[in-house]
Amino acid sequence: MGAPTDFTTQATRSNAPWQTIGVIGGGFMGLVVAQRLASRGHAVTVLERDTQLGGLATYHQYGPFFWDRFYHCILPSDTHLLGFLKEVGLEEQLRWVRTRTGYYVNGQSYSMSGNGDFVRFPLVNLWGKIRLAFTVLYCSRINDWRQLENITVEDWLVKTCGRSTYEKFWRPLLLAKLGEHYRRVSAVFIWTYIKRLFSARDTAVQKEHLGYVSGGYKTILERTAESVHFAGGEIATGVTVKHISSCAKGGVWVDDDRGRAHFDKVIFTSPTNVLQNVAAPGLVKIDGSNTVEYLGVVCMVLVTRKPFDPYYVVNIADSRIPFTGLIGMSNLVSLQETAGRYLTYLPKYVLSDDALLRKPDEEIQAMFFAGLRLMFPEMKMEDIESVHINRAVKVQPLQVLNYSALVPQVATGNADFFVLNTAQFVNCTLNNNEVVRLVDEFLTKHERQFASHGDSTHGKTEPYALQS
Ligand SMILES: Cc1cc2nc3c(=O)[nH]c(=O)nc-3n(C[C@H](O)[C@H](O)[C@H](O)COP(=O)(O)OP(=O)(O)OC[C@H]3O[C@@H](n4cnc5c(N)ncnc54)[C@H](O)[C@@H]3O)c2cc1C
Repeated sequence: MGAPTDFTTQATRSNAPWQTIGVIGGGFMGLVVAQRLASRGHAVTVLERDTQLGGLATYHQYGPFFWDRFYHCILPSDTHLLGFLKEVGLEEQLRWVRTRTGYYVNGQSYSMSGNGDFVRFPLVNLWGKIRLAFTVLYCSRINDWRQLENITVEDWLVKTCGRSTYEKFWRPLLLAKLGEHYRRVSAVFIWTYIKRLFSARDTAVQKEHLGYVSGGYKTILERTAESVHFAGGEIATGVTVKHISSCAKGGVWVDDDRGRAHFDKVIFTSPTNVLQNVAAPGLVKIDGSNTVEYLGVVCMVLVTRKPFDPYYVVNIADSRIPFTGLIGMSNLVSLQETAGRYLTYLPKYVLSDDALLRKPDEEIQAMFFAGLRLMFPEMKMEDIESVHINRAVKVQPLQVLNYSALVPQVATGNADFFVLNTAQFVNCTLNNNEVVRLVDEFLTKHERQFASHGDSTHGKTEPYALQS
């Protein structure tokens, strides 16, 4: 690398009432905070390492169409996310669909989409079902999640459902989702899972409804980026931030692989392990992050000419099947979105250091296909148009006992440097409703530091209706 270019021109703008703000990471969190700040009139620059925006929410080309690299859906209860989509003018592109959930056990799929299905489920007796229903209802009503942090998910479920229902219903599910690690996981795991699942139900009719935006997250990311640009912000992709340090005269220096830039304020949205590598000594103090174990995901995605089954999600509780679930995206998303093809995701969650994450695509494919043949012996290879293997090494922490005490505590040693990332999620699943909620909470907390500069449109006409 040659001598770094000094592109400090932005620093000279800091005498103006608006501020130069660097946002590190162009995942959904980075883009949402950039959109919010740019529309407040600040000069925002997003720096994203990958050549494509979106991080875990990014998209992938599946032959003749694009869709999310990992599967995403929107719940009716995702009020923060829905508010954001409305704000960037995507309300009209939202589609809501009645979906169904399945449960695969003992070589058979059962519908678990409504109360009737639940009553008919053959593996649990009537008393077991009553206790199961009570557990789900009770869990969905618990507000103080801290009481669940110091009991294992196994002990808690046995206590509320009984041993027999636990062994037949929950244990296979926990094994499928977490492997043997489930024994170390707290009851907060099942609480967050049930709470989010429950909120997909239309309470009036007890039916599951899920949503998506036409075009998938590609549309959401592009529209958000468009909104940042419209408000005068800049987005640089393919730029890796290497070093972040305090400037003696105020503000923050950011070194990336192109050179050095100065910002009045910097918001870091990438994972905490990246922060550890790029922060100058004294910029931040991080306690505890070495003790947190993360889950990664390997996800085989199939583009087929026929659907596998009628469910959006099939939870797989069968130790012979190497993937955790079957996500029938085409049971949610119209075939018009996917060039008439069916799109199915087969995820497997493992610890970040698991060898599966490093296995060659062909090995993963062979292993997953063996499981698929067990589930669908009638499957024909000629119906499969393409196979894609996607991986993410660090997706979310393993919620072990008393996890909130292990969460990396990040204290910044510079009043102009802020950390805003999903590592702080202790009582929810990783989802973009929480991302928007966290961004808004952050901006409310730091209202004074990021006060609005007023008109951000610089006289341009909005290409779509931006609402406050
Ligand atoms: C399998 C799966 C299924 C999911 N399903 C759903 C769902 O149904 N609904 C839902 O709401 N959410 C879902 N999510 C969660 C959703 O994808 C995340 O909430 C969201 O993507 C998190 O965004 P983020 O910006 O916080 O993090 P990330 O996406 O991790 O973004 C961090 C960004 O920082 C960048 N970066 C890292 N290092 C550097 C560096 N040195 N310099 C510059 N940039 C850097 C990365 O490239 C990345 O783009 C799912 C996630 C997965 C993996």
